[in-house]
Formats: sequence, C-alpha cells, structure tokens
Amino acid sequence: MATNAEFFGHPIGLRTLFLTEMWERMSYYGMRALLVLYMTGAVTMANAGLGMSALEAQAIYGIYVGMVYFLAVPGGWLGDNLFGHQRAVLYGAVIIALGHLTLAVPIQSGLFFGLVLVAIGSGLLKSNISTIVGKLYADEDPRRDAGFTIFYMSINIGSTVGYAICGFMGEKIGWHWGFGAAGVGMILGVIQYVRTRHLLGDAGLEPNPMPAAKRQQYGRWALAIGVVSAVIVMLFGTGAIEVSASVFAENLAYALTTIAGIYFVYLYGFAGLNVAERQNVVLLFLLFIAAAAFWSGFDQSGGSLNLFARDYTDLNVLGVEMPVSWVQFFNPIYVVVFAPMFAAFWAYLGRRNLDPSLPIKFALGLLFMGLSFVVMLLAVGVALESAPIGLQWLLITYLLQTWGELTLSPIGLSAFSRYSPKRYVGQMFGLWFLASAIGGVLAGLLGGEATDGGLQSMSPIFTYMIQYYFGIAAVLAVLAYFFRTKKEASREG
Ligand code: GLN
Repeated sequence: MATNAEFFGHPIGLRTLFLTEMWERMSYYGMRALLVLYMTGAVTMANAGLGMSALEAQAIYGIYVGMVYFLAVPGGWLGDNLFGHQRAVLYGAVIIALGHLTLAVPIQSGLFFGLVLVAIGSGLLKSNISTIVGKLYADEDPRRDAGFTIFYMSINIGSTVGYAICGFMGEKIGWHWGFGAAGVGMILGVIQYVRTRHLLGDAGLEPNPMPAAKRQQYGRWALAIGVVSAVIVMLFGTGAIEVSASVFAENLAYALTTIAGIYFVYLYGFAGLNVAERQNVVLLFLLFIAAAAFWSGFDQSGGSLNLFARDYTDLNVLGVEMPVSWVQFFNPIYVVVFAPMFAAFWAYLGRRNLDPSLPIKFALGLLFMGLSFVVMLLAVGVALESAPIGLQWLLITYLLQTWGELTLSPIGLSAFSRYSPKRYVGQMFGLWFLASAIGGVLAGLLGGEATDGGLQSMSPIFTYMIQYYFGIAAVLAVLAYFFRTKKEASREG
C-alpha cells in the first residue's frame, strides 16, 4: 500500500472509488431523470422536447437502463481478462463523459449515440469498480461489508447531487444544459480518479494472469465482437434498420431472460457442481427472479412515476414550482437516512438468532415494492377525481420502495458473492446486474403501458404489478418455509 492514510477507518483507496462512483452516479441518475421528460416534452415548448409518446419514450428509456446493466457483464469480463479493473474504470469513465457531452449537443441524432456511449462506458465502469472495492481488503478482513456499505452511500450521494444540478439545469434552463452538467460531473470524476488512482495500489491493476498467446486470442475475439456490435449499432443509429423502440424493448426482454435462463441451466446441470453448490444455484435463481421483478418497479422512477409527478402532482413548494426530477431526490435521501437503521436492525436480529432467511428478506423487499404501488393506485384514484394531487403520495411511494431496496439490494449483492460456486464468482456478479437489466427493460415497457392512456391506463398496469409482487413474495415465503422444515427434519433425523 502506497500510504498508511485511511478513509473512515478503511483503506485510503476507498476514497478514490467513493468519489469516482459518486460522480458517475451523479451523471447517470442526473441525466436519467431528464431523459423521459425530454423525449416526451412538447416540441412547441420553450424548452422544446422531442414530442414522443409516453410508450415509445419509456421503451427507449428501458432499453437504455437495460443495456447499462447488461453491458456490465462483458465490461466485467474485459476488466478481468484484458484491461485490468483499474484501466477498465478509467476507459469507462472517459466514454461516459463523452456520451453525456454528445447529449449536450442540441441535435436530435446526438440522443442515440450519446446513450450508446454512456451505456458502453457504464458497462466498463460499474462492475469493475465494485470488484476493486472488494480487492482493497484481504480475504479475511472484517471491514469488507462495511466498505460496501460506504460505497453504497456514494451511489446515493451522487444521485442526490445529480438530481439537484442536472434536474434543475435541464428543466429550468434547457435539456442539453442538464446533459452537459452530467458530462461535467463525470469529467470531475475522471480528473479525481486519474489524480488519486495510485492510492489503489495494485488492487485490480493487472488482469488475470494467463499466457500471452491466450490473452492475444481473447483480445482478437473481443475486437471481432466489438466491430460486429459497432456495425449493428450503426445500422440502427443511421436508420438503415428501422424498428419501433417498444418492439425492440420487448425482444430485448426476451433475449436477456433467455440468456439468464440458459446460464442457470448450465450452472445447475452442466458445470460439474456438487450437491451443495447446486442447491445454492437454486437459491440464487429464486433471488434473481425476485430482483428482476423488484427493479421493474424501482426503475419506473425515471419513467412512469416521473411523468406522474409532472402531469398530476402539485410541485409548488412555498410558492415556487420545483423541477419534476427533484421528486426523485427522496429515494437517495431515504437511503442515506435508513441504511444505518436497517443494518443495525439486521445485526440486532442476527444476535438473537432471528435474522430472516434470504428468501424471506427478498419477499419483504417485494412486499414493500407491492405496497408502494398500492399507494400509487390510491393516488391515481384521487387524481382521477381532481388533479393535481399533493406531493405526499409520491413521497410515501418512494419511502416504501426505498425500504424494499434496503431489504433486497445490499443483501442480494453479498448473497451473490457468498453463495456463488467459487470458480464462478465474477460471472455471478454479472448475473446480479443482469437481473437489474431485465428489471430496467420491464420498467420501460410496463411504465410505457401504464402512462400511454393517461391516468386511465395506470390502474390496470399497477394492479397487475401488485399481483406479481405479492405473488412472487408468497411463493418465496412458502419455499423458505419448506426449505427450513426440510433442513430441520434432516437435522433431527
Ligand atoms: N441504486 C443502485 C445503483 O445505482 C442499484 C441499482 C440497480 O442495481 N438496479 O447502483
């Protein structure tokens, strides 16, 4: 380690990663909060939008969110095998900054290429930066979990700053100013990373050791896939292949689900795992389904809930009309407030041997998500009688969603590192992000359908979602009970 300095009692390199992730999430959430508002904004407004339908705009949003998380899988592979994680983070951060700067140019064709760049850059950054966090600690270092908790804080501080600055500039000055602000944030992140990267020491500096010939072969494959993908992207970008965003999003959802399904079948049946490892794969599969379902509601914050805030909510606070995207503030603020309480609560239960099993925690997460949409259902009812309605509806919705997030997200991350078959940990991390990817695309599709016909179309879609949240939660609870009694029976027997 280059220095003995510490960051809140943790290796000083955590500060470098904390600030990099903070700026990256500032740019990601700041821009994302504006995206659907910009695409659906009327072309005739002073701050002219693109005049798209709520359905198409959210399909694009869903594809974008889905790709950001899906590309974490190949991004992680590149970090592991070709670049090393530290360089992958640097390349990713630079590409993200270029993407936001492309969006800042006020031309319509900038949208597609800007989003593609941000998605590629995020794919390189997101998984590799999380991997370096883990590598800052020796295997048996008890500070690791706390390190991830601090890191999760940086995500939420970053998004708060992003909503505040990009949201304000984009809505009150001009959309492209907001996108530019996201770019400036990421540039600050890059400068900070370059200047303090030495503090990481050799954590994630070099890729996995392998013979040079093999690395070259990997490199050639990566290049070939990269070139083919670039050509396909160009065909879409230039309009040579024309497809509606919602049709594309639907197919993407199927494709991602199929990839995940094949991978789980492979792990279970063909990866040479022993009985205990296969049981863990079944557990992770259940968590995967619950996580994908969870994010399909959570990621509607930038889509349907954003539009609900704009169209049906009174945003006047003390006589001043606040930016629509500021409503999303509440999720990260709640995270910062409640994360320590949740951590303390689980620890308290743990000491009394009452800590709920993983499926039960995931079921609780889904229960909170379901309840948040019950609140939205009531809000829609009130708005149907007379809109705009008070801000409290969305504030309660986000509170419930955040409780769900805190029950499911940090725990899911550590479950995927703890219960993955040892040789597959890196890829299983990618699988965790794949659940976010599927959730993101579904969020775009469901949110689009919910808002397509104004308030009227919301109730059926939200009701459907509530049913599947509660349904999956119930199945998880039953399975958890079944596993537990089976375990107890075998212990007694
Ligand atoms: N809010 C977390 C982040 O931005 C998790 C999001 C997700 O996995 N979908 O990193």
